[in-house]
Amino acid sequence: MTGIYIHIPFCKRKCPYCDFYSFKADESKKDSYLKAVLLCLDKWKEKISDDIDTVYFGGGTPSVFGGERIAQVISFIKESFVLTEDAEITVECNPSSVSEKFFLEIRNAGVNRISMGMQSAVDKERLTLGRLSDCNQVRQAVAAAKEAGIDNISLDIMLGVPYQTMESLDESIDFLLSFDIPHISAYMLKIEEGTPFDKMEDILVLPDEDAVSEMYLHTSRCLSSAGYNHYEVSNFAKDGKESRHNTRYWLGQDYIGIGPSAHSYLHGERFYYDRDFNGFIEGNEPVFDGFGGDKDEYVMLRLRLAEGLDFKEYEKKYNEKIDEEVIEKMKKYQKAGLLHIDDKGVRLTPEGFLLSNAIIGEFIR
Ligand code: SF4
Repeated sequence: MTGIYIHIPFCKRKCPYCDFYSFKADESKKDSYLKAVLLCLDKWKEKISDDIDTVYFGGGTPSVFGGERIAQVISFIKESFVLTEDAEITVECNPSSVSEKFFLEIRNAGVNRISMGMQSAVDKERLTLGRLSDCNQVRQAVAAAKEAGIDNISLDIMLGVPYQTMESLDESIDFLLSFDIPHISAYMLKIEEGTPFDKMEDILVLPDEDAVSEMYLHTSRCLSSAGYNHYEVSNFAKDGKESRHNTRYWLGQDYIGIGPSAHSYLHGERFYYDRDFNGFIEGNEPVFDGFGGDKDEYVMLRLRLAEGLDFKEYEKKYNEKIDEEVIEKMKKYQKAGLLHIDDKGVRLTPEGFLLSNAIIGEFIR
């Protein structure tokens, strides 16, 4: 099985913390982009003989691309590839750029999952993050998606944002839980180089590192007690509602990425498209980015997942055992409550997820 990621590089306006490849565009740019995406999919189709079981429109803000164009891309995928009957088709949305019509259009095209960026339920925090919508619009967007028949919904929140406190985080968590949705993502704000937040870092009122760690653990505890499995560092889902598309990245499964800045991993090779809109429109080829799937990458990706690293699977894949010395070191981390280790494998706890770089470092040194 293979997945398809379609990058939509358009947003209504740029949020001050974001370094994803996206910009504001007019309708004619969106039309040119649609053509380029279809041509690009056509080029990839010869390389893919497997069925497609996940399609993911990310960005940017795919909802800004419009329901009709998204439907045309899906219809092209159906004509050109074998899309499984139960394929997961996700569209990322922004509450400020959706409508009942949009949800009906994408639902009719086959979309069965949406992922919506909320970031915070506290308007002061949302404003600082450059969000255009208020909580009411988030509520209306979720209701409109459900009304259109899409109830596999994920909402995102952000931890460590300006002005955030434990009390305001609780407000956001309570708001999220009021929807009874099957999936929630919680990301820690990272100040990316070159963004407006990077230039303002000295004047931003940010919670300190310890406070952000506590926010992360608090979020994990609250969502776990509300019935969500903390299945990946930043992701929580009700049983069986994990993101199938994103899980394929962590399991090292094949996917192709279409659009400027999108990455692919196919038959052991990695590729990416430059962050160059015009180049993509002109048909630039993807850049070869080396071979993937080595031991270090495998360990790193598996330890992002709550199910962790399975020793037998590792041994079978690489024809060698995990070093005994590393296992002994892991036992020390176990005493500190950062992971569980037994004969079968090793799994990080939420406390361990916070220190995952150091723990993974022991494996891949
Ligand atoms: S809406 Fe999302 S992709 Fe667009 S600028 Fe904001 S954070 Fe970045």
